[in-house]
Amino acid sequence: MFKQKLMILKEKNLIREIKDRRSPQGHRIKIGTKEYLNFSSNDYLGLANHPRIIKEVQKALNKYGFGSCASRLLSGGSSIHKSLEEMVARFKNTEAALVFNSGYSANSGIIPSITDEDTVIFSDEFNHASIIDGCRLSKCNVQKYKHKDLSHLEYLLQKVKLKKKLVITDTVFSMDGDIAPIRDIYYLCKKYKALLYLDDAHGTGVLGNGKGSLSHFNLTPESWIIQMGTFSKALGSFGAFVAGDSEIIQWILNNARSFMFSTALPACVAAASIAALKLIEKNTRLVKKLWTNREILAQKLVESGFDIMGSETPIIPINTGTIENTLRISKQLLKKGIYAPAIRPPTVQTPRIRINITASHNNEDIEKLLRALREVRL
Ligand SMILES: *Cc1c(COP(=O)(O)O)cnc(C)c1O
Repeated sequence: MFKQKLMILKEKNLIREIKDRRSPQGHRIKIGTKEYLNFSSNDYLGLANHPRIIKEVQKALNKYGFGSCASRLLSGGSSIHKSLEEMVARFKNTEAALVFNSGYSANSGIIPSITDEDTVIFSDEFNHASIIDGCRLSKCNVQKYKHKDLSHLEYLLQKVKLKKKLVITDTVFSMDGDIAPIRDIYYLCKKYKALLYLDDAHGTGVLGNGKGSLSHFNLTPESWIIQMGTFSKALGSFGAFVAGDSEIIQWILNNARSFMFSTALPACVAAASIAALKLIEKNTRLVKKLWTNREILAQKLVESGFDIMGSETPIIPINTGTIENTLRISKQLLKKGIYAPAIRPPTVQTPRIRINITASHNNEDIEKLLRALREVRL
């Protein structure tokens, strides 16, 4: 049965495979035996292999060993997990924070835990798969609103009068690289007394001098705002967090099944996240360099006539029209030593090459990418 299903995927050019990376993650990677200039990593600030972080991981490894071998509600947690939560709460200017094992486990655990049968969820149609799964697990009435469409969101909000409401949005959309209109969504939530859940996976370490989307929009955290983010992208580590009002955080700790029934992250992983947060707090140049690179590349792409599909962040998609064309371009780029993945349906509707530019790329890397793109184009 699966053989047939796989055949159909292959025929549609939609089969995926796992790459054999034989180097650390970074702006240069080795896949199989070949080296590539890499534009596929979320290591926006080049922290995945930062010497300071590796040193802190080694220290924690020596002190706590590796496996944590129990949920944190049993004996799996360490004082490093606690310090990380205190640090995130300070960083986000909230009363409390809680660490999760991944962004996926955070969204799929938190959303069902903060909703009940009287809640209606309002979710941007382009929200991340982990949000969609969290919504499904909640068994709530889920109202999808059109991408970043405030009047559609308001129309849906005002239709449900007596229900509890939860609005959920990615802050930076991972396939389009655009930013949600969080200031307007904030006011809508205030007006309709809805909880606001922000997924700052691609905003953490990137927007608001690294502090995330609320800082970017100059908004203060409120008791009705729940900020989720990950350590696994710009912070170069692994795991996720939720930050907010202490009662909400305590409730999540007592109800989110992916927190309660899953083994804690190794302490050394939490140590890596602490070290990464300290680095971006101390060294503001890192985030600045990321944005300088982003502006240079985006401007040059537009000048060369590429459609960057409304990108506003270091995620820069290039519209390549059809699936066939997208696969062809991705393959030709590979031949030229450039790794930039083809993104196809069902992940997105419009096939594209997705470029992630980071602080570790230099001008030469950017020029090499531009040259290659001009050569392979349409
Ligand atoms: C990557 C991502 C996640 C999942 O985070 P992981 O730590 O990789 O599990 C959740 N939400 C968004 C918007 C993401 O981009």
